Amino acid sequence: MISLMNDMSLKVVKFGGSSLADAGQMKKASDIIKAEAERRYVVPSAPGKRFSDDIKVTDLLYKCYGLAEKGEDFCAVLAEIHNRYKEIISGLGLDFSIDDEIKTIEENFRKRYGSDYAASRGEYLNGKVFAAYLGFKFIDAAEVIFFSEDGSLDLEKTNKSLRNALDGVEYAVIPGFYGCGADGYVRTFSRGGSDVTGSIVAGAVKASIYENWTDVSGFLVADPRIVDDPVTIRTITYTELRELSYMGASVLHEEAIFPVRSAGIPINIRNTNDPSAAGTMIVPDSHEDEMSAYTITGIAGKKNFSAINLHKDRMNSQIGFCRDVLDVLAENGICIEHMPSSIDSMTVIIDSAHMEGKQDDIVTQIRKRVDPDDIYVEEGVALIAVVGKGMCRTRGVAARIFAALAHARINVKMIDQGSSELNVIVGVNEEDFEQAIRCIYDMFVGSSLN
Ligand code: ASP
Repeated sequence: MISLMNDMSLKVVKFGGSSLADAGQMKKASDIIKAEAERRYVVPSAPGKRFSDDIKVTDLLYKCYGLAEKGEDFCAVLAEIHNRYKEIISGLGLDFSIDDEIKTIEENFRKRYGSDYAASRGEYLNGKVFAAYLGFKFIDAAEVIFFSEDGSLDLEKTNKSLRNALDGVEYAVIPGFYGCGADGYVRTFSRGGSDVTGSIVAGAVKASIYENWTDVSGFLVADPRIVDDPVTIRTITYTELRELSYMGASVLHEEAIFPVRSAGIPINIRNTNDPSAAGTMIVPDSHEDEMSAYTITGIAGKKNFSAINLHKDRMNSQIGFCRDVLDVLAENGICIEHMPSSIDSMTVIIDSAHMEGKQDDIVTQIRKRVDPDDIYVEEGVALIAVVGKGMCRTRGVAARIFAALAHARINVKMIDQGSSELNVIVGVNEEDFEQAIRCIYDMFVGSSLN
């Protein structure tokens, strides 16, 4: 019998919806799993899109339950969902039926089991089918993943149950995206949450690696909608990834890094349609040695920020000025992003969406509280984060960023470098956003490829 805890090469593999969208994709995923005996625990998503305007099974389930809740006829949508699975089952040549499961789902929809229950059935059914195809044990996530009263994950109970359930089990399928709420009903994570399940399973069993199989060969250095054919990031630390994700880069669910990060388990983002590609390796922060070939690791950015600019003579000697400004923002429930300052002025950068409908009121409150000589709000600011652990050891990184921007005649409105020297944040006008990203990319990556 294989023991769970001391098998250092145990791998947890998660497959996203597009990797399991139809029988052909499932066969590819199965070939990947079977290629390595260490790939022992599989976390599937629900079937995703087969073509660009296809509908994900999860979305069909939400729609179906929406009709059930309104007391309308939902049988046609449920039949459509049933058909997606029937096609997969017959395409895999399986002698397997989910007819009884569909009947139970229909009954539970009538009993109003909730939209989380409804959405979770996509992963549940896909897990059943995939387990049958692989010949692996099926373990219902509702029996091993637990949420607390407040809706957060109950990690202690979850780890214990997962370890118990998997101890001595050589190969298993545990559906992603859901678990059991404190009230005993099924609860889901937020959308894309199968990534989180994979990470939880990997953390619980102390996997040597968490492989996350999707439809791209890893993270790209920049957004491909802005930069033509950007290179793939080979290695990135958890902290760098957090910085880039915060600024809009997305491949992995935001919450997915925490369970593996604390256990020091790397995540490998891989492409089901190109399994020979190495993908991106997300590693613990201690792996400083693996420096990017380009000094920077990635560039990401977001539009739609506002800058509150304040000026007051001798602001520097007025004790509590900044605190008072920040107090007003806090009292209005507003988070701040950055706060560059000079002797007599300060700027607070805020996500414009958080100020919607409150802007005039906030300016009035700040005026009353600190009596500035001048205060004005500038909208349409874009922030760009240039991220890379190699920056702190390399001279001239900032010089290269600003030379690239100056050369492209882009005016820099704000600069912020965190004390970790892991990133430089640049604020520009929204109209300059795309061009700014392109010229920074060219300066660090494009030019070294020529
Ligand atoms: N199927 C769910 C969704 O579409 C969860 C996931 O795929 O990770 O969001």
